[in-house]
Amino acid sequence: MPVQEIPQHLQELRASFRAGHTRPMAWRRKQLKRLKALLRENEQALADALHKDLRKSFFEAWITEINFTVNEIDHSLTHMEEWARPRAVDTPIAYQPASSEVRKEPLGVTLIIGPWNYPVQLILAPLAAALSAGNCAVLKPSEMAPATAEVLGRLIPQYMDPQAVRVVQGAVPETTALLEQKWDHIFFTGSTAVGRIVMKAAAEHLTPVTLELGGKSPCIVAADAPMNVAARRILWGKLTNAGQTCVAPDYVLVERGAQDKLMAAIKSTLQSFYEGNPKASKDYARIINTRHFDRLTGLLEGQHVALGGDSDRDDLYIEPTVVTDVDLDSPVMQQEIFGPILPIIPWDTIQEAIDFVNDREKPLALYVFTKKRATSEAVLQNTSSGGAGVNISVMHLGVPDLPFGGVGPSGTGAYHGQAGFDCFSHTKSVMTKSALIDPPVLYPPYSDFKKKVTRTLL
Ligand code: NAD
Repeated sequence: MPVQEIPQHLQELRASFRAGHTRPMAWRRKQLKRLKALLRENEQALADALHKDLRKSFFEAWITEINFTVNEIDHSLTHMEEWARPRAVDTPIAYQPASSEVRKEPLGVTLIIGPWNYPVQLILAPLAAALSAGNCAVLKPSEMAPATAEVLGRLIPQYMDPQAVRVVQGAVPETTALLEQKWDHIFFTGSTAVGRIVMKAAAEHLTPVTLELGGKSPCIVAADAPMNVAARRILWGKLTNAGQTCVAPDYVLVERGAQDKLMAAIKSTLQSFYEGNPKASKDYARIINTRHFDRLTGLLEGQHVALGGDSDRDDLYIEPTVVTDVDLDSPVMQQEIFGPILPIIPWDTIQEAIDFVNDREKPLALYVFTKKRATSEAVLQNTSSGGAGVNISVMHLGVPDLPFGGVGPSGTGAYHGQAGFDCFSHTKSVMTKSALIDPPVLYPPYSDFKKKVTRTLL
């Protein structure tokens, strides 16, 4: 879509929103079912595109993108009427006879901007939330996953109501042009740096934003944790999509006495995941492009590589790599890694691990591996993160009733399940009072009698 056509599309969507086109529950249900059909009937085409962009295996594409989004849609189909229902609240006696209720209303025409790492899920799950709440949406897939962007751009007009959903393809100039428009909500998933740009642009029109950003998600491992389970769950979260996951464990803080045991467990887990050869495994993805490949191999410069370290620029392959004796001022500990490199840093007391986390930006996720509730509670109660997991990594995203979002620099707002419905809804407070009785107690002139009555009632 040429940039100059954007205002026209927006105007058309606004007209259909104003006409009430997207409000009826029947329309919302139909759109969610169409979206589900898009995903189910095109599993192979979507998985092929994801393979082309990121060399994702079919299984990974299905679990983390296609089926994940279908589950979100199904959850909305089951609960959206309940989420949309007005909720009565008490009205103080002084205002009686009257009633008060909280209503959910759609926001209007929304903009959804997606990143490249889960380019299906992170465009279509927010779309499902926007539609369930009765909104129109313009989608901007990431240009960095071009095969997926092309498939989405082709399928969405085939399946979805064109009076409510449009796709705009493009990179920075197109996104900049979109951000200049006045939206009713902007839902952005991507980096913290671009999140700032989005928030600034939204401030021009006082448009509310949801920012799903990134950061360095720590993983704390106590010596009492079952190391083989911990290693498997950490590496599964870290190496799915070759580490290019916003909630992947970025680094591990391990209790000093258990570091060798954890390293041994990591070594044997890697062997079992990829039969000793990740490069040959169809289950191991590739880095998105040479820019990120160079950034990641740059992070390894000067590091002590304890495991892995192999790479191939022509194949965009980076071996799962563990680094130890890490200089905390080096880039690998200063920026979000977003790749298959795992620094391991020892601690002596749990307070030291907690302080390590609190000395840095609030992360999108934090994981703790321990058998002791006192240890996990100490971490959960004394740190702040978008979400958290005890003896898991990444998996909490799959629980639709858990709101998903960051805190501070890792994001603003949340979605998934009801949180997604709420994110794309305005909560409107409505008070209704009978016009039949109208005692003049509240109206001037304020006589002593009225003051006395008011003081008693209010
Ligand atoms: P990105 O911020 O570079 O790009 C995201 C989107 O913004 C793309 O559609 C892109 O076209 C657009 N964009 C890029 N530069 C822009 C600019 N200058 N002006 C306007 N728009 C611009 O992010 P990415 O590289 O695609 O994704 C990786 C980042 O996203 C990581 O930081 C990761 O942690 C984060 N992420 C967060 C979540 C989450 O749910 N919280 C999920 C996935 C990725």
